[in-house]
Amino acid sequence: MKQAQAKTPKVGMVSLGCPKALVDSERILTQLRSEGYALSANYDGADVVIVNTCGFLDSAKEESLDAIGSAMKANGKVIVTGCMGAEPEQILSRFPNVLAVTGPQQYEQVVGAVHEAVPPLHDPYVDLVPPEGLKLTPRHYAYLKISEGCNNRCSFCIIPSLRGDLVSRPIHHVIAEAENLVKAGVKEILVISQDTSAYGVDVKYAPQKWKGKEYQTRFQDLAEALGELGVWVRMHYVYPYPHVDQVMPLMNDRKILPYIDIPFQHASPNVLKNMRRPAHQEKTLERIHGWRRDCPDLTIRSTFIVGFPGETEEDFTFLLNWMREARLDRVGCFKYEPVAGAKANDLPDHIAPEIQQERYDRFMEVQQEISSAKLQAKIGKTIKVIIDDVAEDGADARSEGDAPEIDGKVYLRSAGHFKAGDIISVTVEDADDYDLFAVPV
Ligand code: SF4
Repeated sequence: MKQAQAKTPKVGMVSLGCPKALVDSERILTQLRSEGYALSANYDGADVVIVNTCGFLDSAKEESLDAIGSAMKANGKVIVTGCMGAEPEQILSRFPNVLAVTGPQQYEQVVGAVHEAVPPLHDPYVDLVPPEGLKLTPRHYAYLKISEGCNNRCSFCIIPSLRGDLVSRPIHHVIAEAENLVKAGVKEILVISQDTSAYGVDVKYAPQKWKGKEYQTRFQDLAEALGELGVWVRMHYVYPYPHVDQVMPLMNDRKILPYIDIPFQHASPNVLKNMRRPAHQEKTLERIHGWRRDCPDLTIRSTFIVGFPGETEEDFTFLLNWMREARLDRVGCFKYEPVAGAKANDLPDHIAPEIQQERYDRFMEVQQEISSAKLQAKIGKTIKVIIDDVAEDGADARSEGDAPEIDGKVYLRSAGHFKAGDIISVTVEDADDYDLFAVPV
């Protein structure tokens, strides 16, 4: 006979991977919390541990397997979900005793596995859950996921085979979630998806009503709606399609932040074609110049892959020259790494690791110079920042051009009576290659 449980069941969560996976973790925890489960910050105190895995690169898979191993060792009751869950054999061959393996976005299955491992208490505890759900990010900023999956088929990526084709959330649901976040005190919303500029393509831009006004499920309308909320709104994972031009006036008017995160990955037409990148035929340099004309304060952040199969010295030089002309503000760079199951593995002419390293170093040298010059040009200027952390001797903050975790910081020498989430004006006193140093005005 099952005994009535006297104590609140506790769940531990290890969340790996990108912000999209983090949002999945938040949804799972929100559901469990609403059912009366408590959260445990360590393995010991947890009745069951969920490991949300990342399967994007082989190195990420290893990290995921290590995390499963640690949770198995320390706790023993482990449920695996996330991108790696799409290939359960890889997990089960190493950890045959995990309680369950579910794929990405299979929230119900994860919650079901938790119920089986540790049944919920009968009291619903619904009141314990705030309307905006539970967040793993600090209270003043939050990720807002607008769609799942992706219609593109980039040759180095297996996300579409793991997460399926694009499924956009109805725009009125997204706006409602954003409003709840703002009501709960969020001061910065980070819009994420696999391809933000494709938002609504799958539902043929279906119109929806929100508070008496009609919005189409599309990027432009979303930007306009979020721009009315009076908080910072930052757009991630946008591709350089012509319709992106239309949001520049909103950025210039500060309805949304003058910041755009575009994973260009390369500039050479040959490499982009081999990568099967979306918008690879667009004239991106012209587009970037046009954006800067319409929104002079625009920060463009991007990521690049060097040493992709078939990348010639000519392609690479093309990329460096493109970088010198595009003068992007924030840039990350990766050396190409084959991902099991990706089409790019079958391409001829893989690049030797020492050439990849050499190209990576040359790339970073060029970008560092650009980044440093751009930050130097800000010295003496007054800019807006959002405060992330306050300490006795100052504060860590970010400018409109810095997304949390991935971009630079603005270090404040004195922070007076400010608190996390405050948006204030500061004067920039100094800069290094990636960060700024400033004082409140
Ligand atoms: S846009 Fe390309 S890289 Fe991004 S998720 Fe889709 S297929 Fe993968």
